[in-house]
Amino acid sequence: MVNRLPVIALDGPAGSGKSTVAKLVAKRLGIHYIDTGAMYRAVTLIALRENVNTKSEEELVGLAIRCNIEFKYDDKGFKVFVNGQDVTEDIRLPEVSKASSDIADSIGVRQHLVSLQQKMGEAGGVILDGRDIGSLVFPNAEFKFYLDASVDERARRRFKELKAKGVEQSLEEVKKDISARDKRDKERPYGALKLVSDATKVDTSDLSIEEVVNLIASKIHTKEDISTIDE
Ligand code: C5P
Repeated sequence: MVNRLPVIALDGPAGSGKSTVAKLVAKRLGIHYIDTGAMYRAVTLIALRENVNTKSEEELVGLAIRCNIEFKYDDKGFKVFVNGQDVTEDIRLPEVSKASSDIADSIGVRQHLVSLQQKMGEAGGVILDGRDIGSLVFPNAEFKFYLDASVDERARRRFKELKAKGVEQSLEEVKKDISARDKRDKERPYGALKLVSDATKVDTSDLSIEEVVNLIASKIHTKEDISTIDE
């Protein structure tokens, strides 16, 4: 029996359904949700807006430190703020998605964001989604999941999402961007996306969101220590 609420690590490639699933699991279990990808995206958005020299590790780290990233809930749902400004929509733009993998290669930016994520989650009662949660941010997380799906299915999902937001990008382009991001995310020397041996892998290709949420919640409920969670 643990004395604190658990940490749930949810890793996986772009479009595997992590953020949708993490939000619903958080709601169902009454725990906090931390979207670590949104943190890399927020730093990327400000770097693009301020024309920061992304080749300079010093400038990038300085920028990351200046970004006060906050997560808030309102009646429209989960919102991301940087230095008091709502960037929820802008951080999802294709140019930010593309550039975020470059920014995420910066070891200094990663170290800064990882330490913020560790502080945000240290009390437990939290689900974090990202690439390196189970391997680096919370290697001792009580529960670890790795969501995956075929690249075609992930591209279709992202294409639908972007279309609904009025963003024009062809399915082929979306697939190309996702494949490039996968490669980059899996190959970076520090904080790479990987399936750790103690994570449960879930292929979401043929599962509905509800099925994935049920599966994760059921695994968590089978452990005694979740009895401290208030549903
Ligand atoms: O998950 P999402 O697609 O929003 O993440 C955007 C980018 O941020 C990823 O492509 C990845 O390069 C980076 N990222 C990361 N580590 C995390 C979360 C995201 O490197 N924990």
